[in-house]
Amino acid sequence: MAISVLPKRDELKVVDGRLFIDGKWVDSSGGEMWTHVNPAANEEVGRFAIATAGDVDRAVKAARRAFDEGPWPAMKARERKAILQHLVGLLYQHKDELNELQVLDNALPISFSSMYQLSAEIAADVFDHHAGWIDKITGDTIPPYTGADIQALTFREPVGVVAAIIPWNAPIFLFAQKVAPALATGCTMVMKPSEFATLSVLRLTELLEEAGLPPGVFNLVPGPGPTTGEALITHELIDKITFTGSRAVGQHILEVSGKGIKRVSLELGGKSASLNFADAPSIDMAAMMAMGMVSMGLSGQGCVCQTRALVESSIYDDFINAAQGLTGMVTFGDPFDPEVTSGPIINPRQLEKVMGYIESGKEQGARLVTGGDRPAGDLAAGNFVNPTLFADVDNQMKIAREEIFGPVLSAIPFTDEDEAIRIANDSPYGLGAGVFTTDIKRAFRVSKALRAGTVGVNDYSIMPNTPFGGYKQSGLGREGGFGSIEAFTELKTVFIGLS
Ligand code: NAP
Ligand code: MG
Repeated sequence: MAISVLPKRDELKVVDGRLFIDGKWVDSSGGEMWTHVNPAANEEVGRFAIATAGDVDRAVKAARRAFDEGPWPAMKARERKAILQHLVGLLYQHKDELNELQVLDNALPISFSSMYQLSAEIAADVFDHHAGWIDKITGDTIPPYTGADIQALTFREPVGVVAAIIPWNAPIFLFAQKVAPALATGCTMVMKPSEFATLSVLRLTELLEEAGLPPGVFNLVPGPGPTTGEALITHELIDKITFTGSRAVGQHILEVSGKGIKRVSLELGGKSASLNFADAPSIDMAAMMAMGMVSMGLSGQGCVCQTRALVESSIYDDFINAAQGLTGMVTFGDPFDPEVTSGPIINPRQLEKVMGYIESGKEQGARLVTGGDRPAGDLAAGNFVNPTLFADVDNQMKIAREEIFGPVLSAIPFTDEDEAIRIANDSPYGLGAGVFTTDIKRAFRVSKALRAGTVGVNDYSIMPNTPFGGYKQSGLGREGGFGSIEAFTELKTVFIGLS
């Protein structure tokens, strides 16, 4: 049966989206609209206004006013906390609707959209965690270094007006990762969501408004990266840019931020490795986890997917067999069907890129074990790609070096621990890694040796209260826990003469 998300779209009562500037919903000054296409069947599901450079300017000035003239940065801890906690309640209350809007955005299957780590529930917990910091953001009193009769102390203050840019793959969680710490620390902000996932962010913005945020504290300017996004990151009244997305755009943001010496936080891509040792708790489970990470849910369109499976030679054949077996569990279809396990590639341009990487794997001599093609029949209307496993990959091949952002796993054999670590670290990226072993000493040794921001031993997680971020070209700074508070604050030293 042909897939259609239109009945669900009607049920969700999606209306044309507008811009949110200075506490009001407004039309775009250019009158241009973006038509959103859901990638499961490439159906048009909604429209929203595109912010022009003039709209972005108005939004930034509103945020600037809200910061410079208050009341937000100067608000008492109890009042700011109450607003964020109101939002936490609203996120819980509307979680099913939000999770469904996320499906309408990017066709992530509903079983994954409502899974804790991608859902409105973790977003609520991220806000709850950061609301808890509000009355705990403190400075130090520092003893005098010389004999002078003077007291030194520090204030931790909000960094100012924040530009936040997020991608399309996990819009609800990534909205929270940026907005919660920015608001908790007293910053004001302008957000540009991805044009491929704006519907859920429009609804999140309505909930922020309902929570009682003063005008101008949060502004939303939907639109494409190269126009709306560019106007935002180059605006001179922005103090800080916080960005999640590709390495290429992250590099561009670093370049343009040099002009105004803007503060920058970057959460970029990855080419994470799992290191599968012969003493893994279960070779089958490790293999299924590796293949599942790239073929279930987002179909490999996740920044921390472990897309290089490094496998000890003695278990290599068993691992490949088990990984191939997992692909039999993948089901495509209507993303609102709870039985569907895996989603499509976000848009035709990205689909073409993924198919190009698969071709390059074949050309460069990797062994295609399974997949490499697209499902036919009714599914051909969407951007689906069959789960793809390449074996005998060399770490210098393109499919081992570049982020594919599709359902492709590259398996690479190794002979000992040192070689495994060397291959894992031989990458421009350093976002995540996995270690599969029952040897506690090895678990520590390898975790310490890996140049990656998050290492999972026999499991992996993302939590609101743990730091997340990348080594090397996977990013700059950390989100989650106190790392986020540091990322949105400046430290001021004050000396008080006592004599
Ligand atoms: P992308 O192409 O870099 O886009 C990310 C955001 O930047 C989108 O909102 C995009 O807008 C915007 N943008 C593009 N060009 C811009 C410009 N010149 N100025 C300002 N903004 C601009 O990334 P994506 O394809 O959406 O997402 C996939 C990437 O995100 C992958 O590399 C993935 O690894 C990374 N990611 C990282 C993390 C992490 O936490 N480290 C988490 C999730 C994803 P439009 O889309 O509207 O054009
Ligand atoms: Mg993009």
